[in-house]
Amino acid sequence: MDNTSSNFSFELFPPKTPEGLEQLKLEVGQLNALNPRYFSCTYGAGGSTRERTFETVTWLREQQIDTAPHLACIGSSKQEVREIVDHYTQQGIRRVVALRGDMPSGMGRIEPGALRYANELVTFLRAEYGDALYIEVAAYPEMHPQALSAHADLMHFKRKVEAGANAAITQYFYNADAYFAFLDSCQKAGIEIPIVPGIMPITNYTQLARFSDACGAEIPRWIRKRLEAFGDDRIALRSFGHDVVLNLCGRLLSEGAPGLHFYTMNQAAPILKLWDDLNLPGKTF
Ligand code: FAD
Repeated sequence: MDNTSSNFSFELFPPKTPEGLEQLKLEVGQLNALNPRYFSCTYGAGGSTRERTFETVTWLREQQIDTAPHLACIGSSKQEVREIVDHYTQQGIRRVVALRGDMPSGMGRIEPGALRYANELVTFLRAEYGDALYIEVAAYPEMHPQALSAHADLMHFKRKVEAGANAAITQYFYNADAYFAFLDSCQKAGIEIPIVPGIMPITNYTQLARFSDACGAEIPRWIRKRLEAFGDDRIALRSFGHDVVLNLCGRLLSEGAPGLHFYTMNQAAPILKLWDDLNLPGKTF
């Protein structure tokens, strides 16, 4: 599977409406022309997006697109995970993103025997499917918001690697130094898998600020202040956001990042522009 030289991937979320799915198909058509290694599709912990994720993944597979469905295990039984993964492997899927997810509101306690952390999910997947799956996990250069310390978080990340993860995708960040410092810590801890930076384009300040508060990704003060000042001027905001992310990607790639994973937010245009300005491979238009 890993015979391409570059490791560029695109993350989608499953649309809520039939119109959204039709629009997504158009966006994927444009992104697929860039020849990414794969598309991934998010999954709501507790099964909240189960059918919609299945529908999106099935459509991607019908287009013969390499697809990595996300699995979010918190509170799920092993049997539930097995049914989902069997469904995917029957579609020829050989790659998953294995996550804990966040406890959905209203789902107060985890039943005995249910999966609690991503390392347990990776252990289970390796035991059940051997090497038939390429497993990616999440990594947090700026620390997971619930972690007790950066060291504890790193040790939990290491457990996922020891359980059999092949590679990791990071939470998004805008501070390249945080990523490179994290790589140094990983190297010192004996973690050797590729750690691909997750890239979030900047197109909407309100939405970005909300996400960042929830997931612990820092928007550096100077960027936040500039974004706030654009107010309703969306064109100026997008232009500035593009430049910030372009510089970030350029530095990451020139200093050795093994690829980039784009959080597309189901929009092709910001990615196409970045791709173009970064002179990335595979462009066919
Ligand atoms: P874990 O690796 O299990 O870590 C969670 C927390 O628990 C950390 O603070 C860690 O330090 C700690 N910890 C880990 N293992 C243990 C242990 N054994 N004992 C005690 N503490 C432990 N969420 C979704 O719901 N659906 C998605 O599709 C989705 N896609 C994502 C894709 C990427 C690339 C990333 C970076 C995140 C994604 N998320 C998704 C969000 C993710 O589920 C949350 O960040 C979640 O809070 C943590 O998931 P994890 O897999 O990193 O968990």
